[in-house]
Amino acid sequence: MKIICIGRNYADHAKEMNAPLPEAPVFFMKPDTALLLAGSPFYIPDFTSDLHYECELVIKIKKVGKNIQEKFAADYYDEIGLGIDFTARDLQAKCKEKGLPWEIGKSFDNSAPLGKFIPKNSIDWKSLVFTLKKNGELVQTGKTTDMIFHPDQLISYVSKFITLKTGDLIFTGTPAGVGPVAIGDQLEASIGEEKLLDLQIK
Ligand code: MG
Repeated sequence: MKIICIGRNYADHAKEMNAPLPEAPVFFMKPDTALLLAGSPFYIPDFTSDLHYECELVIKIKKVGKNIQEKFAADYYDEIGLGIDFTARDLQAKCKEKGLPWEIGKSFDNSAPLGKFIPKNSIDWKSLVFTLKKNGELVQTGKTTDMIFHPDQLISYVSKFITLKTGDLIFTGTPAGVGPVAIGDQLEASIGEEKLLDLQIK
């Protein structure tokens, strides 16, 4: 499986990063070794001193597809969940400065913790609200209605370039409010009232 992450999919986050709004979806990838399954703690790696959380809605692909038309994209996923696109902001900033790829800041081991998934039909997911709390305090609120490119557009765009396979994950971008984590922090992400992710930082 592979993890495809969308960048700058919310105008308010692009603004906080001083980045222009994209004309087409921007994406990058994390390897399968980035996956951290629900229930496992996250250990801050020693190569960063500015690790940031980015809470994101995640789509799980359920069948193989290439050149998927937007109108059929909804047939390619049944489950949605929440994940954290952990980012070593210091390393990413250095890469950006030099115009280099971001992988060392984005794609390291365990950089993609996942919560549990729920059936997309169990909620009105097209207008859902998700939240991230750090140590009990609300730090991010995302609304699918604020996405620049909605999930069906993302699937269509990505599958032009890369074949999507069963089990692949698409992290759909983060809203504003990203920030640092430290040892001892606890992250909790929910869709509506339903808690899907509970992560201890060690
Ligand atoms: Mg992200």
